[in-house]
Amino acid sequence: MDLQRIVDETWEALADQRGSGTPARYIPALELVDPRQFGIAMATRDGPVYCAGDADVPFSIQSVSKVFALALALEREGPALWDVVGREPSGNPFNSILQLEREKGVPRNPFINAGAIVTTDRFIGDRSPEVAIDDLLARLRLMARDEGVTIDTEVARSESQTGSRNRSLAYFLADFGRLLNPVEDVLSVYFRQCSLAMSCRQLAESALFLPFDGTDPVSGVTMCSPSRARRINALMLLCGHYDNSGQFAFEVGFPGKSGVGGGILASVPGRASIAVWSPGLNRAGTSLLGAKALSDIALRTGWSVFSGK
Ligand code: GLN
Repeated sequence: MDLQRIVDETWEALADQRGSGTPARYIPALELVDPRQFGIAMATRDGPVYCAGDADVPFSIQSVSKVFALALALEREGPALWDVVGREPSGNPFNSILQLEREKGVPRNPFINAGAIVTTDRFIGDRSPEVAIDDLLARLRLMARDEGVTIDTEVARSESQTGSRNRSLAYFLADFGRLLNPVEDVLSVYFRQCSLAMSCRQLAESALFLPFDGTDPVSGVTMCSPSRARRINALMLLCGHYDNSGQFAFEVGFPGKSGVGGGILASVPGRASIAVWSPGLNRAGTSLLGAKALSDIALRTGWSVFSGK
């Protein structure tokens, strides 16, 4: 299969729809991004990354970071993490507080904001926020094989300034005794983790551990065990797009994780990790063009996890 051609054809077929959807407005710094940008990067076990469009432009990965935070929190905490965060789709928007009271401060899954705040808290563990952030950055640079991965401090500040909803979630969790660290310490790491600036190429490369049983087949670096990678893929499929997860599985058929910066990371078990980016979102905060691109790639490759091929 000529994967470069598939990536190119997908990009070209959608290029005239650039700018569709609505960029996130509630984080003011994200509004400054040119909405017509559109990138695709596909990493496989072959080595070279197949790219098209703005694949080398760094963007705010936002909630895509929750996948890495989960892998690293599980590494520190082990299965005990599942005592404080569930594994069920929420059917609610990413920043919903609705279920949190009824479920006694145990968020439905690690990809809604409440669950990610708990995951980040466990990733910090007994370390300072600075040490934890440095650790996260070092791991991503290692996985991406690129020292250029950074945190956009302007986006992080913007998120913190408009972060009342996340503060509400975090204080609610703290009231149920679910956080080990002070709320503001946890949020300072959470906001910076969401503000990681990465390109599609860096994202696809750093996530190769997901489709390949926990170990990057190109560099040989292990991020997690095979069963853990399988489980993260399962959670991405069921919860990766909040109240849009069913629709994404229906249209695309890959485990995926969206972010309100317009990035989507997809993991195609045994085959590839694919990162797409276009800032315009649908109502659930998933990149409109990004989801179309992944659906197109699924069609052209026949790689849907629900296909018998
Ligand atoms: N930083 C964003 C928030 O916490 C992440 C949301 C997202 O990408 N879905 O609101």
